[in-house]
Amino acid sequence: MDFGKTNKFAPKPNLKIFLDGRIVPVAEASISVFDHGLLYGDGVFEGIRSYGGKVFRLDEHLKRLEESARAIRLTIPMSRPELVKAAYDTLKANGLTDGYIRLVVTRGVGYLGLSPNRTDCPSVFIIADQIELYPKELYDKGMAVISCSVQRNHPNALSPRIKSLNYLNNILAKIEALDAGVYEAIMFNTQGYVAECTGDNLFVVRNGAVETPPLNAGILEGVTRNAAIELVRKRGLPFRERELTRHDLYIADECFFTGTAAEIIPVTKIDGRPIGTGEPGPITKQLTVDFKKLVMD
Ligand code: PMP
Repeated sequence: MDFGKTNKFAPKPNLKIFLDGRIVPVAEASISVFDHGLLYGDGVFEGIRSYGGKVFRLDEHLKRLEESARAIRLTIPMSRPELVKAAYDTLKANGLTDGYIRLVVTRGVGYLGLSPNRTDCPSVFIIADQIELYPKELYDKGMAVISCSVQRNHPNALSPRIKSLNYLNNILAKIEALDAGVYEAIMFNTQGYVAECTGDNLFVVRNGAVETPPLNAGILEGVTRNAAIELVRKRGLPFRERELTRHDLYIADECFFTGTAAEIIPVTKIDGRPIGTGEPGPITKQLTVDFKKLVMD
């Protein structure tokens, strides 16, 4: 057993990581086995993106981070301006203008036992790297996905509004997708309505109107979702937040997912059924162009 010494998925050795106030080489960026983020998934995070040297909607991401932290009674040991500076410094240290930023706040080192009162030093680390979530050709051809059996966490159990380090609900759904030979899975809430995907929000288009599940369907309030809604409104397209069923997916003319890593990606097959013509639809294509312009503004 070499315990990962030959891990082919190991991070690039020249990466620089922001860890608790310092930028350090990745080999020195370690978190304790007693960190409650690791022991219990007790922490929060953000996935953020930079285009042409400008971080897209950083304030919105940091606001969501602060709200997630507040929801789990975690005090982030850095101010908003300090987080902004740290994010840009990490990009710079890695020579990136276009990249993905993972900002994580863990509960910190404590003793065994769930109680967050037995920790007093939250950790903040930031990884900046390139990311390619889905193969490029899927953006032209559209992606096949499944609707899955793993239900999205009930908001009264663990609200999907909290972007926490506890992602097993999504990982179980992702495993179901991968087992079915696709990259993404559509998750339903406990009432049987469409919620979201493992790492993306969902939209459908029917008869020219754009629809997406409301926040109270139990979803993360995606930064890209909000940007897509703005673009839909700017185009003057009819827009509704409404509860969607599996039937609504199957009869949609178009479907697309939104997410920081995914951006806007067309979905052309669900559970083996072609959506609309089976090709990326005109509204999806238009919004993709609009989104590309928006991120460069
Ligand atoms: N839903 C879930 C469960 C997510 O993890 C994410 C982020 N990857 C999204 C939706 C999309 O959110 P955003 O557009 O802010 O990246």
